[in-house]
Order: sequence, then structure tokens, then C-alpha cells
Amino acid sequence: MAFECQQCGECCHHMAQVHTIKEVKGDFTFLVNNQYTGEKIVVTVDPDKYDLFADIRVFGDHPEACPFLRYHPKDNLAYCTVHMTRPEICRDYGCWRMLILDSRGKRAGRVMEHRAFFSDDDDLAHVWKECIDDLTEPDDAVWDTIVIGILRKAGYTVRV
Ligand code: SF4
Ligand code: SF4
Repeated sequence: MAFECQQCGECCHHMAQVHTIKEVKGDFTFLVNNQYTGEKIVVTVDPDKYDLFADIRVFGDHPEACPFLRYHPKDNLAYCTVHMTRPEICRDYGCWRMLILDSRGKRAGRVMEHRAFFSDDDDLAHVWKECIDDLTEPDDAVWDTIVIGILRKAGYTVRV
């Protein structure tokens, strides 16, 4: 299954260190500088997100958030307000290779990169510690199959 963003916004929480607004061009258009590569691109707020863009409460909780990240007050999901013109590095980004959902379909954890585990759920963290942490299987594909089996048995849904 292809990567599906859960719109938690975490990947954009510190992106002000990367994307800085170099020039406000007016009409919801901005020249953005990539602090690391020096690349400059023009982005424009999506027409259906003008009101959302005006809501800057995100910076209270996340002062280093990308200048274009917003949380919608209705669903509390994260939105990139320049989604249609967002930088290339944002287009290529997918934050997990294994997504673990609880019985209600809510994100419980993620496996990123090789076997790095990040939990949003104490019960899942416990299962991981007791049954998965010490697995020594060297083959990644076999390890994935074993881990998915353990998680499914424990009541979780796994997307890879
Ligand atoms: S890419 Fe990952 S970290 Fe970023 S918003 Fe989507 S689910 Fe969250
Ligand atoms: S431009 Fe959009 S996707 Fe990229 S870091 Fe900012 S909010 Fe996130």
C-alpha cells in the first residue's frame, strides 16, 4: 500500500529552520529560501486556504513550524496551505515505512527508516518492548513478516 499521510503535521514542526520567507510578493505569494540548499522558489497559498492561512495559532505551540503549516480548527488536522505549489522536498516526503493503527483506526505507531520505532500508544509500546525489541532476525523482509504477525495478533492494523 502506498504511503498515506495522516496529517499530524509533525514533519513540518521544525521546518522554519529550512523554509524561510525571503520576500512577500503580495496576493498570497511568497519567495521562499531553502536555508540549506540556497534554492529559492515561489509558493502561493491555495485559494481554498486563505482563511486558514490567516489563523496563526500553530506558532504558539510550534514556534519553529514551517510558515505555511496550519491546523484546521474543525478537525485539528494539519494542512500545508501552499500544497499546490509546495517545495520539491515536501512533495517527495513520506515519513514511515510501516504504519500501525489501533482498533479504532487511529495511529498508534510508526516504523521509520530501517527498524526505528516511534509509538503514540502505551499499549503498543509495551507489545513492542516485550515481543519485538529483541528480535534478532537479520533479513528485513522476514523481520517485517514476523513483526506484522505479532502486531496483528495484538489487535493492530499494519500498513506497509
Ligand atoms: S508526512 Fe508523516 S509526519 Fe508528516 S504530516 Fe504526514 S503523517 Fe505526519
Ligand atoms: S511547505 Fe507545506 S509541506 Fe512543506 S514544510 Fe511547509 S507546511 Fe510542510
